[in-house]
Amino acid sequence: MRITCWGAAGEVTGSMHLVEAAGKRVLLDCGLFQGRRQEAHEKNRNFPLAATDVDLVVLSHAHIDHAGRLPLLVKLGFEGPIFCTPGTRDLSAVMLPDAGFIQEKDFEFLVKRGKERVGEPLYTAADATHVADHLVSVPYDRALEIAPGLRLTFVEAGHILGSASVVLEIDDLGKPKRLVFSGDIGRTGLPIIRDPRPPAGHADLLIVESTYANRTHESPAEAQDLLASYVNKVAKRGGKVFIPSFAVGRTQELVYELHGLARDGAIPKVPIFVDSPLAVNTTDVFRLHPEAFDRSERLVRETDELFRFPLVKYVRSVEESKRLNEMRGPAIVIAASGMAESGRILHHLRNGIGDHRNLVLFVGFQATYTLGYRLQQGAREVRIFGEEVACRAEVATIGGYSAHADRSELAKWVAGLGEPPRRALVVHGEAEQLDAMAGLLREARVDDLTIPNLGQGLEV
Ligand SMILES: [Zn+2]
Repeated sequence: MRITCWGAAGEVTGSMHLVEAAGKRVLLDCGLFQGRRQEAHEKNRNFPLAATDVDLVVLSHAHIDHAGRLPLLVKLGFEGPIFCTPGTRDLSAVMLPDAGFIQEKDFEFLVKRGKERVGEPLYTAADATHVADHLVSVPYDRALEIAPGLRLTFVEAGHILGSASVVLEIDDLGKPKRLVFSGDIGRTGLPIIRDPRPPAGHADLLIVESTYANRTHESPAEAQDLLASYVNKVAKRGGKVFIPSFAVGRTQELVYELHGLARDGAIPKVPIFVDSPLAVNTTDVFRLHPEAFDRSERLVRETDELFRFPLVKYVRSVEESKRLNEMRGPAIVIAASGMAESGRILHHLRNGIGDHRNLVLFVGFQATYTLGYRLQQGAREVRIFGEEVACRAEVATIGGYSAHADRSELAKWVAGLGEPPRRALVVHGEAEQLDAMAGLLREARVDDLTIPNLGQGLEV
């Protein structure tokens, strides 16, 4: 079999790997490149394969850097099935049209500034709805023959609702091969979703992520204490806490945490605004999938009220969103996107980061060159909507709410495979993290490992 890495190779975003085996061409993920605008834009536009040559897709989870090029693939003529878990199917059905809408807005913006010469957006919200015609859901832990000589099993990755590690059992010209693709590996002990479970057993090839291989996060309990102390501090000075957050997963976890803290008197009862129509829709999807929740929590019984707390207001309309800018603090505003690259958080930041009473609180990964990354690095002046805006607000990060395993959790996951894989491809990280993950794998006695470049192929 042959593997070619067409994304998340030497970087975090754009996850896409082509597996050629058992006479089929299978894509593992089909994600969007994000980050440095022009560069990401070029890479997204130049799809490296003939979409009509791809037989099927296996999707690890619904995050846009893993699923965000699917609408393009379908637009370019892909006709096959896209296999994913039920949670991923339902999340994709709301997230991809939203991504299409952002593509349309981005395109309009570029046209206005005279920067775009290509005649249309990468894809539209309408294009994205066609992806749903291809989605086939496969429950966790049920092996399914997806093509002759190809058996697929999804295993809990504990990263977001529906996230999975992928096991492909392949009859490669009469020789059985087992390929394990980690997807994005989550953390142990986070609220709501289950803990990751490594797919134990022999692997001829492991494709593994490395997002936080060089980091140690706070524990979920420490993260909770930090969150409480920031909210208290900002509430006392009458400021607002802006939390850029992915609409999926993190937002629901934060709402759940903040509610618990307010209920226990650990934070004052400040209003919490979830300003994202997508977050509202994805919260509805959470309600449909108690099968993906941590059963040790009371969540399953309480699913219905799970995210409907008296302090939490869900904001759908643009008018309501704008009113939040005029409102006085203290308040907490959670809005997408998680890396502050697009979405309503940009309006809040433009209006709010000039005020020293406010706090911009990051709770997720910030890819290099994103606005979130620049603020996190301490930039005191940033460009938002083409304008220079001075940042006088406090900026802080809580790593403990990350949806990604840290170094020790990645090591635990690798150990959980039971035996070292014969070969490993290390992906989904920037240079330092990739090296750290390679080191961690060597410690786990994985001798044959490769950190692929974009487009690099490997014969197994
Ligand atoms: Zn992810």
